[in-house]
Amino acid sequence: MVKSDNIDEIIDHKLFSEDDIHEMCERLGKELTEDYAGKKPIVVGALKGAIYFLTDVTRHMNVAHQLDFLDVSSYGDGFESTGKVKIITDLSADVKDRDVLIIEDIVDTGLTLKYMKDLIKERGAKSVKCCALLNKEARRTTEVTVDYYGSKVGNEFVVGYGLDFLNMYRNIPYIGVLKPEIINKYAK
Ligand code: 5GP
Repeated sequence: MVKSDNIDEIIDHKLFSEDDIHEMCERLGKELTEDYAGKKPIVVGALKGAIYFLTDVTRHMNVAHQLDFLDVSSYGDGFESTGKVKIITDLSADVKDRDVLIIEDIVDTGLTLKYMKDLIKERGAKSVKCCALLNKEARRTTEVTVDYYGSKVGNEFVVGYGLDFLNMYRNIPYIGVLKPEIINKYAK
């Protein structure tokens, strides 16, 4: 277990401040408002990392929509993708003939997003798009479109604003890069 209860001790440096995040949510909310006008989409939050982003970005999305959640996992408690994706908690809504917008925290290899998009398409959705806060584009191993995103990030492990380290530290209000020594100590 991580010994430190002090969140500042695990952060190497801040990458995005609360203001930066607010601006991204505002910009994305405007785009989504235009693109989803009159469509009454189902907005699907990818658990658990996307919950902070979901609640902020949808408050800037001036479109009637329904909310649902999907928890699929390829990571476990580690840092590298296991390459296998499985459903932990399924959707409760019927997505047939609906416009579905997946809200993700970060797209890395793309495996998780590809799995979710394929699953929802197979169930007969009219359209399936994704709005991610962060896009680690250079790490992609599978071809999948991130239709909207807040910012690109490099190959660094980020935490805060929903993004976890060993399922902790999601409540850090900004996004920071985890100290390399913490990763080295706890990486499996
Ligand atoms: P993918 O299937 O695209 O490789 O993995 C996506 C998931 O990996 C994300 O939803 C997130 O849970 C996790 N992930 C990828 N990169 C990071 C990162 O830098 N920080 C954290 N906390 N999680 C990450």
